[in-house]
Amino acid sequence: MADLFDLKESGYFYTRLQNPTNDSVASKIAALEGGVACILTSSGQAANFYAIFNICEAGDHFVSASTIYGGTYNLFGVTMKKLGIEVTFVDADADEEEISKAFRPNTKALFGETITNPGVTVLDLEKFARVAHKHGVPFIVDNTFPTPINCRPFDFGADIVTHSTTKYMDGHAAQVGGAIVDSGNFDWDAHADKFPGLTAPDPSYHGLVYSKSFGKGAYITKATVQVMRDLGSIPSPQNSFLLNLGLETLHLRVQRHCENAQKVAEYLSVHPEVAWVDYSGLSTDKYHSLAQRQFRNGQSCGVLAFGIKGGRERSIKFMDNLKLISIVTHVADARSCVLHPASHTHRQLSDEQLIAAGVRPDLIRLSVGIEDIDDILNDIDQAMKSL
Ligand SMILES: *Cc1c(COP(=O)(O)O)cnc(C)c1O
Repeated sequence: MADLFDLKESGYFYTRLQNPTNDSVASKIAALEGGVACILTSSGQAANFYAIFNICEAGDHFVSASTIYGGTYNLFGVTMKKLGIEVTFVDADADEEEISKAFRPNTKALFGETITNPGVTVLDLEKFARVAHKHGVPFIVDNTFPTPINCRPFDFGADIVTHSTTKYMDGHAAQVGGAIVDSGNFDWDAHADKFPGLTAPDPSYHGLVYSKSFGKGAYITKATVQVMRDLGSIPSPQNSFLLNLGLETLHLRVQRHCENAQKVAEYLSVHPEVAWVDYSGLSTDKYHSLAQRQFRNGQSCGVLAFGIKGGRERSIKFMDNLKLISIVTHVADARSCVLHPASHTHRQLSDEQLIAAGVRPDLIRLSVGIEDIDDILNDIDQAMKSL
């Protein structure tokens, strides 16, 4: 027992620190992403918080794309600020020079989302990786929407990947969970002055140095034995069991989600009531060529965004008219669902912040499920007809 507490032996002695069910699911996600280690958390929020907090403390700073999930935007801009950790939001489409201007001597990470929720814009992973590495910090990317089935960010230079496993990985709204995967590629010792938490002795483990004792496993080990130990956002093993069931069909579901979403996007793109459609699978989409380069078969995910002509009011009427597709907060689920971010998830943001987060006031987020495509299209069709 003493050796376990000193991290000299690895073994199971308390679930908050390690649990065999959680570990077996974590190792599958690490394998899917092509990483060296993974820690599961009780939610995607906890995953993104831990991913940053593991290398940032009061007085530190990090840079993030502004087009990110509303909950993450709030976590970074409001809550982490209270802990003394500052963020600068940048336009993800800006060039490398422009993004570089946001870096300071105390900057410790660069963050983005592979495909943004809810705007479904696509992040240029290689560009972000280059900027991060030029400044000697890791590039952390939330890969929830494409999942490793469609994109493996480590292949494009990302160092750390996070997930809300609540979404496609689970796929059935059966549990809430998160994951952090480390590629093992970032050289903490080469930037030792920036990352003393990983490269200097930890007084809470008799002066152990993570980068020396655990090598490529340093980042996830620290997140486990220090951040998880003290903050405790561990998933219940029962939730990890449920997540595991979802993972077993992930490759089939993602394929079907993408096929259905492509057909819905094509249908909407020529519909007379539709003002605009954002889906990188459309050859006219701004991110189409980037998606072709970064995603397996160019497939992004099952989520798309669009607006109805006549603006906000008619967009809301359209959603109210839907019968099969329900209005829910959740996204990336087997069942098709819609949400109007400006009046739901992002209602705390000002119009200016909405635009910065890539959310137009009339934006409808449509998460296309795995139902029969004719049922989905018929529902959209009848909802359009009764506008
Ligand atoms: C939902 C979501 C989160 C937050 O995850 P929870 O499991 O709800 O805490 C983070 N990032 C993205 C991209 C999401 O869609």
